[in-house]
Amino acid sequence: MPTGVITVAYIGATILFILALGGLSHPETSRRGNLYGMTGMMIALLATILGIVSDNYGILFGGMAIGGAIGLQLARKVQMTQMPELVAILHSLVGLAAVLVGFANFMGHDTSLTGMDKTIHDIETYLGILIGAITFSGSVIAFGKLSAKISSKPMLIPGRHWFNLGLLIAAIWLCKMFLDQSAAGSGIVPLTIMTAIALIFGIHMVMAIGGADMPVVVSMLNSYSGWAAAATGFMLNNDLLIVTGALVGSSGAILSYIMCRAMNRKFLAVIAGGFGTSGGTVTASSDQQGEVVPVNAEEVAHLLADASEVMFVPGYGMAVAQAQHTVYEITRTLRDKGVNVRFGIHPVAGRMPGHMNVLLAEAKVPYDIVFEMDEINEDFPDIDVSVVIGANDIVNPSAQEVPDSPIAGMPVLEVWKGKTTIVLKRSMATGYAGVDNPLFYKENTRMLFGDAKQSMEAVLQYLHS
Ligand code: NDP
Repeated sequence: MPTGVITVAYIGATILFILALGGLSHPETSRRGNLYGMTGMMIALLATILGIVSDNYGILFGGMAIGGAIGLQLARKVQMTQMPELVAILHSLVGLAAVLVGFANFMGHDTSLTGMDKTIHDIETYLGILIGAITFSGSVIAFGKLSAKISSKPMLIPGRHWFNLGLLIAAIWLCKMFLDQSAAGSGIVPLTIMTAIALIFGIHMVMAIGGADMPVVVSMLNSYSGWAAAATGFMLNNDLLIVTGALVGSSGAILSYIMCRAMNRKFLAVIAGGFGTSGGTVTASSDQQGEVVPVNAEEVAHLLADASEVMFVPGYGMAVAQAQHTVYEITRTLRDKGVNVRFGIHPVAGRMPGHMNVLLAEAKVPYDIVFEMDEINEDFPDIDVSVVIGANDIVNPSAQEVPDSPIAGMPVLEVWKGKTTIVLKRSMATGYAGVDNPLFYKENTRMLFGDAKQSMEAVLQYLHS
């Protein structure tokens, strides 16, 4: 394939990736954004396979068939609640690919490079493997935490900042050793030791992060995976991979910044790793005093029917229960009765950025009644009934009231300021951050225990009767 055609195809793919990011920024245009992304990736693959790859087609197509079949199977089987862990494990594969390509590239011993060109190429290889290994092991731990295979509590080892600093110094020293030895035709030993150090750093960094801070980790690893791909692009001299990696890296960094703001955490502390480790106490629900007032579906239906202003606040439990369609049925019924119904979305609700927006869009809830936390938090004093559907941490007043809480300082939806709050959940269990919730004991809170979908269905029946 002529070089000009490859260049044009790569430019076309780049434009499509940029359009994809633009489209994905709003639920209304997200389908189109996805389509742009898929078309861009198809063009990129075709141009690379037909224009750049020159031999080993058997291995290439064999790998694509196996990888494609596994991907297809995973995408078919995955539940909506497992999406965050799937995203985490996919990030780990980007990191692993960067490590493997880096080693393969190094062992290929490109003899055409000498002097400064070789040094720059070696640094690209070193950085690609370093970022790739951190992304790989960090994402595997994030997968474990998100799928509850590993406890979401932060694991703090004594002197952990010194430990991290030691790893950083070792990585810099090994880089120098690698560059010296590579100039003399070797270097695999420092490269391998650095990979082991980067893997340990990735594990340590994510293990030290508390449950409530996981959203920042997910978006940060997303960003790292982009930078790992960009470094691989430099290593392979592939412009499209550089641009694509930079797009993922920078959009992931912006998302991390947005998540940091939502969690009220410092971005630089996040990048350095080791955050969300405040020594706050994670209390058991039995430690709480106060009375919990349960209600039944019929009472909730009456409260809703008599209200003028209703605010639904969905959380992770709505995703687990798959209650979004029933919630929308209730919304329609109430709106038909003249009730003003709105949705308040916390940026870190659920288990991945935009989780609730995806669920509500799937249920066809109109976008104009769905509001971000900042847009509606001041309206709660005017709300007659707030319905918290399987949310916990994002409506926890201890973020404001308990200074040493692990979620202290995190902005939350102030549902308790409304007239009545109904909380739908199955038990008194804590949320992902493992922090008890004083909301459940407030005077104007009523608990509707049970699976959120079943509870919402029962409420809907009473509303129709
Ligand atoms: P939480 O995890 O705080 O609470 C979810 C609640 O849903 C639980 O208390 C649970 O209580 C209830 N629940 C679970 N299943 C059901 C069901 N079938 N029916 C009814 N209720 C159910 O979720 P939030 O959305 O409030 O907060 C998100 C948390 O996750 C935050 O701590 C955030 O930092 C973290 N996180 C967010 C990520 C993101 O990117 N958005 C990524 C990783 C973590 P019970 O068991 O009693 O039913």
